[in-house]
Amino acid sequence: MRFAARMSGVQPSAIRELLRLGDDPTITSFGGGYPDPATFPVTPLAAAYEEVLATSGRTALQYTATVGLPRLREQVAARLSADGSPTGADDILILQGAQQGLDFVAKLLIDPGDLIITANPTFLGALIAFNPYQPTYLGIDGDEHGLDTEALEAVLLGGTHPRFVYVVPDFANPTGTTMSLPRRQHLLALAQEFDFLVLEDTPYRALRFEGRDVPTLRSLDTAGRVIHLGSFSKILAPGLRLGWAAASPELLEPLGLLKLAADTQTATLSMSVTAHLLQEFDLEAHIETIRHGYGRKRDLMVKTMRDAFPTSVQVSEPEGGLFTWVTFPRGFDAADFMARVALPQAKVAYVPGATFFPVHQEANHARFSYSGVADEQMVDAVTRLGELLRAELGG
Ligand code: PMP
Repeated sequence: MRFAARMSGVQPSAIRELLRLGDDPTITSFGGGYPDPATFPVTPLAAAYEEVLATSGRTALQYTATVGLPRLREQVAARLSADGSPTGADDILILQGAQQGLDFVAKLLIDPGDLIITANPTFLGALIAFNPYQPTYLGIDGDEHGLDTEALEAVLLGGTHPRFVYVVPDFANPTGTTMSLPRRQHLLALAQEFDFLVLEDTPYRALRFEGRDVPTLRSLDTAGRVIHLGSFSKILAPGLRLGWAAASPELLEPLGLLKLAADTQTATLSMSVTAHLLQEFDLEAHIETIRHGYGRKRDLMVKTMRDAFPTSVQVSEPEGGLFTWVTFPRGFDAADFMARVALPQAKVAYVPGATFFPVHQEANHARFSYSGVADEQMVDAVTRLGELLRAELGG
């Protein structure tokens, strides 16, 4: 069968195949980026569905505006305003998850061969969304303060011209790192000087369990260069499939046209129920509980890893989000170790890090999620893995 040329960028990933083994109930998987289902507000959502269907069922089951339900747009705008960027309902496009925003932004901005700059490594789902539009990538290394904007400036001065720079500034997937304020300011200054857009993806932003919030890129942007994506997936539930884009009218309007073309609108029922829930329910208190739970999980995982793993293995300690990033000595191949040792012998799965690098893949990392595994099982699995790592690496 002949497919469109763009399908050359749409490939099943070997990692997915490997992770499928993680569905085996005897395997403890730290691989999935799923939020802990115990945090989903099932009972309040059930009540909200019942109430919405009973009181406004016919409207909630009808088509609605492409940009999303006015009440939900207002509620999202109010959250962004409270987070430091004054936002009106008209600045918001409701999406079927932030993932849809990644697709639309790529569809809007990328011609085949255009350059996108990301952190190296970056969120795999973003690369999967961008790939069909056939971009080329440049990855910029980062450190514990996020993407290295000095390195970015150097490549820009060298004549590189990206369409946009994609960043997950808060508790990045996969590294867990947060971009510092000076780097955020520098990135925006570079966007202005070298004329590119910044795609800010923030699904984990509310999940800070330590330290202080750093202002969003959107709140620091005075030139309308930021497209900000957010999501209810990690603070309510991903099954609602609700996210949003906030951007200047010049960008939001064509994004709305793409929304119309793709799926007309986000599900009215999902939007209505969530709008109702946000009115009835204390979302901030709910987020506080989630944060506390993930903070405790992070403590347990990082401590257990540091005790159990050889000293040559570094374990990151994120201030929020769902992931810790483990760096093994150079020459160690985390994918090979998983297939050969971790899965068959320790019955443990994680995501080998190479898959998150758009370019210059490094094999000696792994992403572990601490969100979904019960405490005792987590400690046992990490300890088993540690024994095998010591056997492999010494120390
Ligand atoms: N961006 C990042 C960085 C993510 O980690 C995820 C999901 N894990 C998404 C976007 C997509 O989220 P959503 O469920 O809102 O589509």
